[in-house]
Amino acid sequence: RAKRDGGGVARRFDPVLFAKAEQRRLAEQDLMRGLEAGEFEVHYQPIVDLDQGGITVGVEALVRWRHPEKGLVPPALFLDLAEQLGQVPRLGGWVLEEACRQALTWQDRHPGFEMNVNLSASQLTNPNLIDEVREVLERTGLPPRDLVLELTESVALTDLVESARVLSQLKELGVRIALDDFGTGFSSLSHLSTLPVDVVKIDRSFVQAMPETGGASVAEAVLHIARTFNLSPVAEGVEDAGQAERLKDLGAGRAQGYHFARPMPAIGVTELLDKQSAEVKLET
Ligand code: C2E
Ligand code: MG
Ligand code: MG
Ligand code: MG
Repeated sequence: RAKRDGGGVARRFDPVLFAKAEQRRLAEQDLMRGLEAGEFEVHYQPIVDLDQGGITVGVEALVRWRHPEKGLVPPALFLDLAEQLGQVPRLGGWVLEEACRQALTWQDRHPGFEMNVNLSASQLTNPNLIDEVREVLERTGLPPRDLVLELTESVALTDLVESARVLSQLKELGVRIALDDFGTGFSSLSHLSTLPVDVVKIDRSFVQAMPETGGASVAEAVLHIARTFNLSPVAEGVEDAGQAERLKDLGAGRAQGYHFARPMPAIGVTELLDKQSAEVKLET
């Protein structure tokens, strides 16, 4: 027994623990290598205006890892590790700049086209965040009002006083703030009046739970809350025409989801916007 000769610490070799530690070490190495090699891409998912026949009025930037062996890796599989390695501010800073640059190319023909970028907890608490956002706006020339920074309630509520302070500073730059996955966090209601927020993104779980016909739904309740606090709602995770129709009737205004478009590389959005302009010209 390893325990007996070692002052209470089990020293017996545990192959399972060893394999886990080894796997983790390799994953860390791989991620650091990927960051160094610039293997990350930003994809964009259209956000549509339900009241204007579903035209695309903006996009959300979503990071992906173009892995040499694994292919396209979604953020759920690497963001936590990146966060633990302290790499999210760096990766997020790159996403922000890339997204703002890209937004400006679309604004050429579509003035006011909006760019939504996700912020993580470690970015919000990073003392450089305000300067970084200001500099990116200056460098790219994107009008600040066309940048929407998304953060989840859990991020915003970790330290409410500090969040409110940082968000106010961001708002002074002219950017807008969205609460992401709205309704899934804790005590969201009492904090809506404390945080300087402009947009609420209704979590897709509420959109998917909407009844097929009639009946009250959490989505509807959240829309009431948004109106009460003068916030613009965006419904997330709209997967079928029925949901889109009901959300439009409920006055959701804007929506995002596979029913309209999946996240895609920048070129896909460019093509979509070209097609959209051509259709508008035909109609007028
Ligand atoms: P999110 O910000 O809530 O983004 C929406 C997620 O829902 C995206 O997943 C999107 O692909 C997915 N989605 C969109 N429409 C539908 C739909 O109709 N049905 C379903 N089932 N899913 C839909 P994705 O791209 O895998 O991103 C997951 C999360 O990772 C994001 O959730 C966000 O929290 C985080 N994330 C992504 N990119 C970044 C980033 O650049 N920085 C930070 N900090 N977080 C990011
Ligand atoms: Mg988001
Ligand atoms: Mg969301
Ligand atoms: Mg989400």
